[in-house]
Amino acid sequence: MVKIKHIDDRTNAKNNQKPIINILWTGGWDSTYRIVELSRRVCVVQPIYVYGDNRLSEKYEINAMYKILKELRKKPSTKAEFLPIKFINKKDIPANQEITNAYNIIAKNTNLGSQHEWLARLAYSYPGLELGTEASPLSISNILKAINQYGKLIKDKSGEGYILDPVESSNEGILVLGNFKFPIIKKTGKDMKKDIQSWGYEDVMKNVWVCHTPLYGKPCGLCHPCELKIETGMSFLLTRSAVKRYRNSKKPFFRYLYKSELLLNKVIKRLFSKVFVKRMDIQ
Ligand SMILES: [Zn+2]
Repeated sequence: MVKIKHIDDRTNAKNNQKPIINILWTGGWDSTYRIVELSRRVCVVQPIYVYGDNRLSEKYEINAMYKILKELRKKPSTKAEFLPIKFINKKDIPANQEITNAYNIIAKNTNLGSQHEWLARLAYSYPGLELGTEASPLSISNILKAINQYGKLIKDKSGEGYILDPVESSNEGILVLGNFKFPIIKKTGKDMKKDIQSWGYEDVMKNVWVCHTPLYGKPCGLCHPCELKIETGMSFLLTRSAVKRYRNSKKPFFRYLYKSELLLNKVIKRLFSKVFVKRMDIQ
């Protein structure tokens, strides 16, 4: 059995006694909300971005992150120090058969997304890695379903975020989700929106990117992240045509039409993507 490292290893005093916080950042609403929250504290933030899983949205996510960092660095209220974004190629994450086996068991029962297999292997190297999972109904969130079935959430030492209870959670749950910290798992999109408004960070948040399969350079309204945002009252993050597509996709004709459109879009994007991935490899 793979030993799970101590969650609080994440907090160390190497950098001027300030805690270093490793956070998985996608440029999306949830992880960016946490980046904003951390920016207002005295700490060192190490954003981590994983590329190389052929997501059509990589270019948009990276652009969003750079724009957001630029805005945060200009804000007088920023107290945190941001280390340069660490870009990790998915294929370089060390293999771990025990974690993969545990993921396969959980995925069979909960439809937990395939990204959680390599995310769990990544978190093994970064214990305490922050993951921006927000509160949402179990019926629409596969990760919350997995946490609910295979683990038990408890508050971490700081009392701010949540971790899986190493005693009460199953082995599979610990292997796949036990190295993460979930700082916003009790917050809904609406709670976060309220905070953003009261802190005055709407200008920063307008740069977030939420869609996995952009169509014509805009959110699609059809992928899981787009659906989640619409179903949790956050459709203001998408365009009107994305919301219209989401509604229409319930009808068979439109479903077929959109599937063909997404496929065509994917083929075209793939033809141009190689150049972009090469550029990131150099960084
Ligand atoms: Zn989408």
